[in-house]
Amino acid sequence: MSEPLVERMQGFGETIFAEMSALAVRTGAINLGQGFPDEDGPAGVLDAAVEAIRTGANQYPPGPGLPELREAVAAQRLERYGLSFDPATEVFVTVGATEGIAASVLSLAGPGDEVVVFEPYYDSYAAVIALAGAVRRPVTLRPVEGRFTFDPDELRAAVGPRTRAILVNSPHNPAGTVFTRDELEVIADVCRERDLVAITDEVYEYLTFDEAEHVPLATLDGMRERTVSVSSAGKSFSVTGWKTGWVTAPASHIRAVQTVKQFLTYAVSAPYQHAAAYALRNEIPWVEELRKSLQAKRDRLITGLEAAGFTTCRPQGTYFVQADIRPLGFTDGRELARALPEKAGVVAIPSQVFYDHAEAGAHFVRFAFCKKDEVIDEAVSRLARLR
Ligand SMILES: *Cc1c(COP(=O)(O)O)cnc(C)c1O
Repeated sequence: MSEPLVERMQGFGETIFAEMSALAVRTGAINLGQGFPDEDGPAGVLDAAVEAIRTGANQYPPGPGLPELREAVAAQRLERYGLSFDPATEVFVTVGATEGIAASVLSLAGPGDEVVVFEPYYDSYAAVIALAGAVRRPVTLRPVEGRFTFDPDELRAAVGPRTRAILVNSPHNPAGTVFTRDELEVIADVCRERDLVAITDEVYEYLTFDEAEHVPLATLDGMRERTVSVSSAGKSFSVTGWKTGWVTAPASHIRAVQTVKQFLTYAVSAPYQHAAAYALRNEIPWVEELRKSLQAKRDRLITGLEAAGFTTCRPQGTYFVQADIRPLGFTDGRELARALPEKAGVVAIPSQVFYDHAEAGAHFVRFAFCKKDEVIDEAVSRLARLR
């Protein structure tokens, strides 16, 4: 029998999420591994999807997305960030941010090209860069004074003659960093000097805490013309199962993304596009409440993790915290994550799966805090037994 999986995708077998979720089911452990909320999004948004189905939004929508959603996205970018995009040519709807990122990478990078990513990175980045036949060049985020950041020299050194793009995720999963304007200026400088495209993953754009402010890279001088920005409804409106996302970029980039995307999925589920448009127009106050509630959940989880003996960097955004396991006497996050359900009845994700330099991430495990307070409380009281 010939090998059924193409060589460049070998090594992307069962994801750690599947393994850890199966472990959670088998052991009855609390799953703080996978990052989806255990409460639904706003009722008005759910109703909008049902209503769309009942009123006939059930056939193929236009490939680039429903005008209604593209207009809502353009209005959101303008109102929130002062970025102006033509909904007809510069906004494009995708199957979640995941497809937006995939189509962007596949349209920009071919065999032998290079894409710079910050590690730890979201797992789909590595897989889609491999699918493109391209090579990833990781730049490590390390804790400095309580938050994860990068060394500008390492970023510059990662760029070579074959580099096509830099993938920038802020707010960052799983490091929790929201890049400052200064950090973004460093990235923008590199893009401008080396003529690179930035692909930005902004799915946590609303979920920032304390004083942290999400600044889209496209708002920096000279960056709008070289940035492909990706976001989606899933995280903002607690509808991660809807997989409805969008790309905003100059028309030439949108055409490139469309050329790829039309043969991946052609179009995006019509009812959810109606509902996502409704959400962007009407539910931003709900998202503000979600943001506040997540900030409190972050603090709840961190207090418990620190009491249990982990050390953490307080995330400035997202659903996640990386916990350093060394103060508890452990060194290998993968070993601990596999043992944790038995030891403590909790599931976490070993962060090293998000790194190429495994040693930089070996001592972290990732916990999600987008869970009900009582779930977080029970998890941390179980984790307190680890000592
Ligand atoms: C959840 C997540 C995504 C995926 O978004 P979808 O809209 O569900 O495809 C992309 N990037 C990051 C960093 C995420 O955490």
